[in-house]
Amino acid sequence: MTELRDFRLQDARLAKRVHLFPESVIREMTRLSMLHGAVNLAQGFPDWNPPPEALEAAKRAMDADRNQYSVTWGAPELRQAIADKVRWFNGIEAHPDQHITVTCGSTEAMMAAMLAVVDDGDEVIVFEPFYENYGPDAAMSGAKLRFVRLRQEHGWTFDEEELKRAFGPRTKAVILNTPNNPAGKVFTRPELLLIGDLCAERGALLITDEIYEHILYGGREHVAPATLPGLRERTIMISGASKTYSMTGWRVGWIIADPTLSIAIRRTHDFLTVGAPHPLQLGVAAALKLPRSYYTDLQKSYDGKRKLLLQVLKDAGFDAVDPEGAYYVMARFDGVDAPAAAKVDDRAFSEWLTRERKVSCVPGSSFHSKPEDGRSVVRFNFAKREETLRAAQARLTA
Ligand code: GLN
Repeated sequence: MTELRDFRLQDARLAKRVHLFPESVIREMTRLSMLHGAVNLAQGFPDWNPPPEALEAAKRAMDADRNQYSVTWGAPELRQAIADKVRWFNGIEAHPDQHITVTCGSTEAMMAAMLAVVDDGDEVIVFEPFYENYGPDAAMSGAKLRFVRLRQEHGWTFDEEELKRAFGPRTKAVILNTPNNPAGKVFTRPELLLIGDLCAERGALLITDEIYEHILYGGREHVAPATLPGLRERTIMISGASKTYSMTGWRVGWIIADPTLSIAIRRTHDFLTVGAPHPLQLGVAAALKLPRSYYTDLQKSYDGKRKLLLQVLKDAGFDAVDPEGAYYVMARFDGVDAPAAAKVDDRAFSEWLTRERKVSCVPGSSFHSKPEDGRSVVRFNFAKREETLRAAQARLTA
């Protein structure tokens, strides 16, 4: 009955680690969406182009023979541009040669960081709901994940005692994604201070995923955890160009970490990928030099899309949670007019919506350690042109 493929593999020739995680549900939903000609509100990527300045700079780089490997840890122009940008935006002093490593997207950045610091059996704490990549990252690096719940009923806050209990003798790191995908939670300064204090007290590293650092609503501010007292030396800060400059296919991200951590991370990065695409790195360097108004315009534009999607979902019978940041909305679907069979769980619902209403979303269970915690919710993405969101509106409210 199910169209979402069954990923269980039975073949003795395969490594044990591939049994530890399934294929990406997010990308599977994109495939299903294409199969049914649905409006893809599943996978989070914009349906418009990067800024022309970035496109032109990448094309110029190709014409100027910058088509072979860059320095493994990133083209010097890009590392300098990152250093300049994090100084004015994050308030962080990063030396291009000592602290910055350019990677193939923040996806590779997280994997390279985990492989550089985690030993088999080490524990890593993750707040849930969480971005699905962290599961496979843990499986491939040998980490055991310990989960701390963000409670939607309490405004996505977490219980301090639960966090303290998650720390143990093998805790190597905490992964912190702010703004968070999929919940849209933006961690506050007091929350970050608490997490940072615990990391310092227990000797743990903090690995941050700040890919949505420019996409926040309601006047909220992004606080880079590395700027908090005592956290700079123990923070591996990850961000990238995909979301801020609408270039998810370019695969350019970066890591900022203290020199010793950076040396280790550059080692894993080098043998994973050698480097990010050279001409595209130069395109990103141009994007990083855009005026500050670019970022205010970006926020304004996403704010309009957020409001539109919330209204569409409400009109279609969903109970949607207003995000504080990032570009996703989690929504309960029990109030939607759909056959009972479609509402038995999140996967059945996502399939039905894709097939029958021709709008796709991501099943909520893929963001939870216990699938039952996500059984009644799905995630929608609103990084879409207004006409795309209007097309979804027409299909959902017909
Ligand atoms: N981060 C995006 C999402 O959550 C894209 C995921 C992916 O396919 N890499 O949808």
